[in-house]
Amino acid sequence: MSILSRPYFHDETAAFAFLESVIWPEGPVCVKCGSVQRITKVKANPEKRIRVGLHRCGACKAQFRVTVGTVFEHVRIPLNKCLQAAHLMCSSKKGISAHQISRILEVQYKTAWFLCHRIREAMRDGELPAMSGPDGVVEVDETYVGGKAKNRAYKEPNPKKEVFSLVERDVKLRSFHVANVTAKSVRPVIAANVDKATVIMTDESPIYTGTRKGFAGHHTVNHSANEYVRLGAYVHVNAAESFFSIVKRGITGTYHSVSEAHLHRYLAEFDFRYNNRSKLGCEDAERAERALRGIAGKRLTYGGTNEAHS
Ligand SMILES: [Zn+2]
Repeated sequence: MSILSRPYFHDETAAFAFLESVIWPEGPVCVKCGSVQRITKVKANPEKRIRVGLHRCGACKAQFRVTVGTVFEHVRIPLNKCLQAAHLMCSSKKGISAHQISRILEVQYKTAWFLCHRIREAMRDGELPAMSGPDGVVEVDETYVGGKAKNRAYKEPNPKKEVFSLVERDVKLRSFHVANVTAKSVRPVIAANVDKATVIMTDESPIYTGTRKGFAGHHTVNHSANEYVRLGAYVHVNAAESFFSIVKRGITGTYHSVSEAHLHRYLAEFDFRYNNRSKLGCEDAERAERALRGIAGKRLTYGGTNEAHS
């Protein structure tokens, strides 16, 4: 037996039962009227085109499945395969390519690509409270990610894209990509995510000039001098640096290159795994379950037909 022997990876009825236990821990909730009483299961019947996982609300008569209103709502492959993909993405530290998912799940590449983005959307945090607070420190650090020119013989190399992350006490982090990184573009992101009573710690890059304004303080660290800074109980140990090395190896090694339009979703994926890592007591199965909790209230639709598949 292994974790991959679990029935919800192989059987759609078991997959729905599992997802229902994650999304509806207290029992089914009507997606239309919110009722939690008099909800009955409708038996699946392929001949009558009654699908697996259907429920009926006695109050408003609505029929619905747990996937309604989630990123899995319009996925056309069996739910057990979606759960396999979520598990693979959550257990691969540097990510897993849509090509790999397509081969393992035996689905078309495009299907796998959309599915991976849906799962990334589930991993994305919604509105979050401000980081840190009085006596707190948030470290801000930046890096560049992007494909290498030697791998793109017939095309112009992808310009490297700047990513910056906010790290709270070496534990949790949030990453962002903004085009044209300047003090003007970075400051509002920091302001929107960090409590005003926090001390900000950055390197000496000019993009952080003026960061002090609006915060309890701003300290700078000289990376090249290998400087360690002690500030109260806080020790600067380059949490962002170790995170960036995972992101870089993931983006160049697994995804090869990532288009600017989708970079924020890949960052959400790396943030999610980092913030739910084994070191914090979160193992693969629990991590996948936490990702699945994030499917609700998010829908991902692709209006354009010219989406870059990377
Ligand atoms: Zn209802």
